[in-house]
Amino acid sequence: MNQPIDIEALCAERGLRITEQRRVIARVLSESVDHPDVEKLHERATAIDPGISIATVYRTVRLFEEAGILDRHDFGDGRARYEAAPEAHHDHMIDVESGAVIEFVDPELESLQRQIAERLGFRLVDHRMELFGVRLEKKAEAGRE
Ligand SMILES: [Zn+2]
Repeated sequence: MNQPIDIEALCAERGLRITEQRRVIARVLSESVDHPDVEKLHERATAIDPGISIATVYRTVRLFEEAGILDRHDFGDGRARYEAAPEAHHDHMIDVESGAVIEFVDPELESLQRQIAERLGFRLVDHRMELFGVRLEKKAEAGRE
């Protein structure tokens, strides 16, 4: 989330053949700080190369996902969203009204999850935490009619 992840370099590392169109999609993904869906990725990719089809974007994100380069999320609106697999773990808070996604890390939550897994007889290797909410009214707005 903090520094851009060089997806093209990761492809090379994992032996993925990188075509010109894949390179554009990789660049768009690397530069995206939000969690775009395929349509948004397609929009951004065609701004660079109008010849890129939505089918190519679909295939490419699937390929990157299978290679462990991308994480796919479902934030409850039925559209798969993508982000470069982060080096450091984080969780997501989703604003159900605007669709905005806020990333957060909470050491207490991480430790609690490990404890729960251990209590159930597991060593935790991964988890997903997605919180869904509506923004609390701001005080200034609440006082105004
Ligand atoms: Zn994220």
